[in-house]
Amino acid sequence: MDVNVLMPERDPMGAAIADYFATGRAAKLRVFSSQFEEDEIPVSQLFRTYDKMPLLEQRALQLAEGRILDCGAGSGCHALALQDMGKEVVAIDISALSVEVMTKRGVSHARRVNLFDDSFTERYDTILMLMNGSGIIGRLENMGAFFAKMKQLLQPGGRIYMDSSDLRYLFEDEDGSFLIDLAGDYYGEIDFRMQYKQVRGDSFDWLYIDFDTLSLYAARYGFAAELVQQGEHYDYLACLKMK
Ligand code: SAH
Repeated sequence: MDVNVLMPERDPMGAAIADYFATGRAAKLRVFSSQFEEDEIPVSQLFRTYDKMPLLEQRALQLAEGRILDCGAGSGCHALALQDMGKEVVAIDISALSVEVMTKRGVSHARRVNLFDDSFTERYDTILMLMNGSGIIGRLENMGAFFAKMKQLLQPGGRIYMDSSDLRYLFEDEDGSFLIDLAGDYYGEIDFRMQYKQVRGDSFDWLYIDFDTLSLYAARYGFAAELVQQGEHYDYLACLKMK
């Protein structure tokens, strides 16, 4: 099996994106996690236009320059906004359905590529990882592999813009004390599984990371992290560059 392809029968988000694109509406995109109650992703939000985007995302799009990689591009909302701004962008996603929709929506360079694929070796000036973009890293133990890949993909002087939330608020007591088990796994390591209609996806790891932890790992692997902007609720946009 080609692990770099997310096939339609295992791709609930791709199915939701394809439905919404085709009909202008979608059923519930359900999200399950062993750590949380069942939740749902509003599919229309995956099609957000520039003015509906959170300020952190707008900021990242403004800062993006040169040859841009939109990593885990979904419906292509950021890639389309960048094209409108006259910027040059390649949008990659592991989902065959999403890439098909991006192409139909007018994303000029949409490709079905796994970020971590060894054969994906082009150079970019800006790499965007948006909508809790750190998620694609999966777990803290993958940080070494992630930064090695970034070194391979970035032009000298290139930058990564990544957003995330610090999940500490989920574990904070009213008096400000923490309920985090310090001996346990990092509190931002979450497992998810999605379902759309009858399409059930496999479980996957998704990393939420606080800025201090991101900075520590960045430094360990030869990168510098800068806090570009803080959001309204424990979220932030970071810029990472090679030292
Ligand atoms: N950036 C989009 C979509 C976010 S959802 C938005 O903001 O709306 C995350 C996307 O990342 C999904 O479309 C998923 O298929 C894709 N993805 C997950 N792991 C990936 C990987 N290793 N390489 C490329 N894309 C990946």
